[in-house]
Amino acid sequence: MVTDNPPRKANPREGFLGSDRIKNLELPQDGSLLAIARSIESAMKGGITADVRRACAEFLGDASKFYEVPACGIRVLAARPLRVRERGTIELFGDYSPETMVIRVWMRTAVRKEVTSFGTFLSTVCHEFCHHLDFQKFGFHESWHTRGFYERTAVLYHYARGTPLKKLFWVQTAGGRWRIDWQRTNRSAPPSRVG
Ligand SMILES: [Zn+2]
Repeated sequence: MVTDNPPRKANPREGFLGSDRIKNLELPQDGSLLAIARSIESAMKGGITADVRRACAEFLGDASKFYEVPACGIRVLAARPLRVRERGTIELFGDYSPETMVIRVWMRTAVRKEVTSFGTFLSTVCHEFCHHLDFQKFGFHESWHTRGFYERTAVLYHYARGTPLKKLFWVQTAGGRWRIDWQRTNRSAPPSRVG
């Protein structure tokens, strides 16, 4: 995971820094997202796209209600369309359109047609939903991949998955972007579930 380049112009830069600063996300306490996430997992095992879509819609509807944002749409596709670009970054497993408020996720990779693992799939749903939150909850005009964005995504994902949240360690790249230092991040983390 690598952050986007900070914009040069003052106005968008303000939003970028704002996104970078927000490292946490409130979480519901009732456990319903965990239960729905498990139903996404069993729907994936069943392999019927419509069931996966229904479970994802329930997950996103529940989350949208909690964060008091309009519900977003969801499309679950069998395979990734080739050459999907999301604001300059190639997203491997999903995307989000702020204009239509629709998330798309795909169950298979484009080229090798391998089934996306549940963990990757759920983390994609959470990632795209956090783009939705950037526009609808935080009021950013753009949704950047900042350190804060990845931190918020991780908070939501680990909560929904029922896995312990890892402290993320960042290293700055030569170009001024940030990437996660996975070695340090994983070393400091308690053992998490595999799968
Ligand atoms: Zn993204």
